[in-house]
Amino acid sequence: MARLFDKILLQLTYSCDKQCDYCCQKHARAKFGDKFFDQWAELKNLIEHIDLSDSVTVQLAGGEISMFPSKIIEAVEYFRKIEQKKMVRFKFQVITNGYDIDSIVLLYKKGYIDICALSYDFSGPKNNDELLAKLPDYFLVLVSAPRGFRDTKKIDSLINLRKNNILLYPLIGQQYSKEDVAFYKKYFNYFKKT
Ligand code: SF4
Repeated sequence: MARLFDKILLQLTYSCDKQCDYCCQKHARAKFGDKFFDQWAELKNLIEHIDLSDSVTVQLAGGEISMFPSKIIEAVEYFRKIEQKKMVRFKFQVITNGYDIDSIVLLYKKGYIDICALSYDFSGPKNNDELLAKLPDYFLVLVSAPRGFRDTKKIDSLINLRKNNILLYPLIGQQYSKEDVAFYKKYFNYFKKT
């Protein structure tokens, strides 16, 4: 039986206001600068030739995509046009570093976004505790933690604040010690159970 795709990740831009030292897009950003995704015809051709599930989550990613709300609208309207033909329901997920929460909230209220997520880190440029305190409940908080970070008190207070609407993820490309792995495992298991 053919595999049904239920997720599409669309990288709309590499442009970003932050400079996280662990960013896996540094090289791509240096190469492509502020270019935006523009291969819509190729994407349409690809979508027409793959088997999609009834419901497909489209992750609209950057860079920092809240800097360019019109690009989110452009992408959503593009997918809406092919929705009927493919008899599929697209759901749109946006991950922001918090650059422009108001624009994301507005697009969510207008029905352009189904799933909003804030990418947060404990000690890097995405640490925005003030923003976190007033973030709407429906935002999922994705927490990246630099290697060696094991402040369980901070994690527990985040869990409490976000009422489990929070997910930890390890940083790609980092080497972790056994203790780090045990730490992440403990919290990953916790989130999965709840
Ligand atoms: S906010 Fe995200 S895209 Fe921007 S520099 Fe940091 S990790 Fe990279």
